[in-house]
Amino acid sequence: MTDWADQLTPILGAKTADALAKSLNLHTVGELLRHYPRRYAERGELTEIAGLEIGEHATVLAEVQRVTKRSMRSRRGSILEVRITDGRRALNCTFFNQAWRERELLPGKKGLFAGKITAYRGQLQLANPEYQLIEPATQDAGDGDSVVAEFTAALIPVYPAAQGLPSWSIARCVRQVLDTWDGVEDPLPAGLRADLRVSDLTQALRDVHLPADRAAVHFARKRLKWDEALSVQLALAQRRQAADARPAPACPPRPDGVLDSFDARIPFELTEGQRSIGEIVRADVSREHPMNRLVQGEVGSGKTVVALRAMLQVVDAGRQTAMLAPTEVLAAQHARSLAELLGDLATAGEFGAPDHATRVTLLTGSMGAAQRRKAMLEVVSGEAGIVVGTHALIQDRVEFADLGLVVVDEQHRFGVEQRDALRSRAGSRVSPHVLVMTATPIPRTVAMTVYGDLEVSALRELPKGRSPIKSTVVPVAEKPAWLDRVWQRLREEVAAGHQAYVVCPRIGDQASSGEDVDTPPPAEGEGSERRPPLAVADVAPELAEGPLRGLRVGMLHGRLPADEKDTVMRAFAAGEIDVLVATTVVEVGVNVPNATAMVIMDADRFGVSQLHQLRGRVGRGSAAGLCLLVTDAVPGTTTMQRLDAVASTTDGFELARLDLELRREGDILGAAQSGRRSGLRLLSLLDDEDVIAQARDRAEAIVVGDPALTEHPGLAGMVADLVDEDRAEYLQKT
Ligand code: ADP
Ligand code: MG
Repeated sequence: MTDWADQLTPILGAKTADALAKSLNLHTVGELLRHYPRRYAERGELTEIAGLEIGEHATVLAEVQRVTKRSMRSRRGSILEVRITDGRRALNCTFFNQAWRERELLPGKKGLFAGKITAYRGQLQLANPEYQLIEPATQDAGDGDSVVAEFTAALIPVYPAAQGLPSWSIARCVRQVLDTWDGVEDPLPAGLRADLRVSDLTQALRDVHLPADRAAVHFARKRLKWDEALSVQLALAQRRQAADARPAPACPPRPDGVLDSFDARIPFELTEGQRSIGEIVRADVSREHPMNRLVQGEVGSGKTVVALRAMLQVVDAGRQTAMLAPTEVLAAQHARSLAELLGDLATAGEFGAPDHATRVTLLTGSMGAAQRRKAMLEVVSGEAGIVVGTHALIQDRVEFADLGLVVVDEQHRFGVEQRDALRSRAGSRVSPHVLVMTATPIPRTVAMTVYGDLEVSALRELPKGRSPIKSTVVPVAEKPAWLDRVWQRLREEVAAGHQAYVVCPRIGDQASSGEDVDTPPPAEGEGSERRPPLAVADVAPELAEGPLRGLRVGMLHGRLPADEKDTVMRAFAAGEIDVLVATTVVEVGVNVPNATAMVIMDADRFGVSQLHQLRGRVGRGSAAGLCLLVTDAVPGTTTMQRLDAVASTTDGFELARLDLELRREGDILGAAQSGRRSGLRLLSLLDDEDVIAQARDRAEAIVVGDPALTEHPGLAGMVADLVDEDRAEYLQKT
């Protein structure tokens, strides 16, 4: 008689339950049953060793090939080396001072071996793995030997495991729980289940852990994926509906206002996309309910103008607007370029300003006290029509006189919950309009989930006269001499009157490594022997005194004081710096058309879409852009394939897909991009487009008829669980 919410301790005993709690954060029956196998090893079929990644905690089904015992020369003790194989490639397992294992690890024996994959002298290795031998099926599996009995099924579940808690221990716990489990009440109404042709939840959960065959796995996973897709889409449909129902400040366009004056003086012709999205946004902002729109457009597609025109319409209606950037450098840059675009239309309060002029006010955390007070005053008084800052602007409870529109720029790191906070921010019952802009093209499934609370518009074309960017991988491990050629190329660019960026993953020059990166690169394959990533603080002086001697080399990163960052950016924009050595603070929005080349050091330490964003900083003018991806990654590895892909295409959609595949889905409702999954265990944003799209339609239909899900208590429960789980994760992270 075991229930979903029961604690594991009485069932499994304190020792095992504690291990599950500590290593995998599993406390209840429900949590354990939701810990699904990652895959299934097929009895008699060995795991492919070539597919293993360094750093991965893996469980492999392999055969013992050879065992050698050595004694350690330096100390008393022995090393037992056990070579295991999948029939093609081998993996070395080493055991220290466990010579007795020689007696059971006999050549020809098969077993599961679990541990962290490392590399040692070019060989894949498992140090001190845990293992469990599997007796051949013909041998009598009974004999009261439970260890053997565990592996009598045709499919052996392989669980995400932890040190000291190998897959087979988890399997044993699950089996023990299932033995006394009565099942759960199914949250999906029977009618819906029949419609979707999915099995009931109790059956699905039993089958996912103890499948009779592959078909059982398939149907179980199908059902469980539906639950995930449906709860996410229900949560999002509810949010959309709630957001839509809130009142918002209607800002109908005003003839002869600042927007009209601006339109009359834009120095270029709007692209077709800028014009049509402009129309949509104009209508959105005029409504009495909040706009919640995402504009996605490639780097350089001109999103800023779209946002600015929306902001001016709101200013014309007598309200304020805020533009949020991910970093202070970017915020400062935005404030500057908005003021430049506006010219004297941004000089309200100054002598000779046009009638309906407004003010662009920068407000950031690191401003001096006096400056900040002045900025605050402009915001509170309503004098500032356009306030530019980082997300702190919203979190810090800055009081706006009358906030009508919030523009979030380049925000692929901003989850649904943060957007919720933002909508409820205007102080009163009224929600501001929200316009989110991103340059990372978003696969459809991601748009439906991560951005599912927003309507999406895409800016497809680039303004005329843009130059192509040519990207090349520089494999220094293989061809060290190419690095000299890199610096020579930079000198040529500078000699031709252009400027260049050199981007490094780390800031450097600081004992603490915790805050040493402006944007942490994805942690993957953290091999033990990797050197630390290259740092701006080291590379800049080395270049200035070495290969780039005589050039004006500047340095920019997130730890510089705000005014210094600003000075450096200004100097670079003014052409007073030839080569800017920087962290990813230049990733988004920085716009210096004369910069034509970018060298990315340790390019393998960056994510795919990050690289794509970064190189978008060059080729913004009429001269062709050049991006050199310097890496010591080994040819043929996935890491190198990733870089080759970035070099081979500038199709952002293709890259976004690739990135998603490599990064796996982050959490959906909370702060995104953690790379950990929550809510979504089986559902893949990459492969399950059908399910997601269908779930979205279903959810929409259900929520329209029953907004609070009062008539669907099962579904309401699913949504509550999802939101709780996501929020718990989110809170843990902050
Ligand atoms: P992103 O979409 O990457 O944010 P920006 O808005 O920064 O792009 O625009 C990049 C550059 O292109 C800016 O210098 C901007 O003034 C310019 N630009 C924007 N729209 C057009 C257009 N229709 N024609 C020519 N240049 C444009
Ligand atoms: Mg931009």
